[in-house]
Amino acid sequence: MQSINSVLIPSFSPWLICTPPKEYLLGVIEVCYRFEMDQGVQWAIHYLERLMPPLSASQCLFLSARYQIEHWVRPAVRDLIERHKGARKLHLISDGNLDQMGAGAYAAVVKEVERVQEEHITLAFWPPEMQHSVVCRRGGDKATMKCSEKWCLIWDSKLPKSLLSFHRPLSLASLPEFLHSLDFDSEKVLKSCRDLTISRIESIGIS
Ligand SMILES: [Zn+2]
Repeated sequence: MQSINSVLIPSFSPWLICTPPKEYLLGVIEVCYRFEMDQGVQWAIHYLERLMPPLSASQCLFLSARYQIEHWVRPAVRDLIERHKGARKLHLISDGNLDQMGAGAYAAVVKEVERVQEEHITLAFWPPEMQHSVVCRRGGDKATMKCSEKWCLIWDSKLPKSLLSFHRPLSLASLPEFLHSLDFDSEKVLKSCRDLTISRIESIGIS
């Protein structure tokens, strides 16, 4: 199969400066996938990801199920969730979406939506651990404990309602921005501690 790849791929080279048309790429990926030409499949995926306008979320889900493009599933599902308010209720995914994505991709959507819901519920009731700055630690265990308690207090009063909102749940991607907007000053939570904690949340990729 490698020999076929080495013949086929150079023939695509005229396209390397600009993105080939969508129909052409869909034809290439279909043929290459059928004949197990991995290089051709990867080549088509590379350019499909650069199409302007981009593929719709439901098209991505259909193609990801058909050609085993696993890294397309999560962003496409997230896109569907973001675009459809309250899409945690799957019946809000339209019949048109379903026709385009097919049963295999729909199953992947259900699984991903469940995972996102679980993330939201867990995060709503179990705040991430507070990260304490050097200034805070200088006050010893008593100071850091008090700081953590205040962090949890604010979290408990604001986050469950926002993360589990029925109409417009806070997306995990916008969680850091939301946390920065909260009034920690009135509870006297050190700015250095909350900045450290929010940075930590960003770096571990709760998004
Ligand atoms: Zn602290």
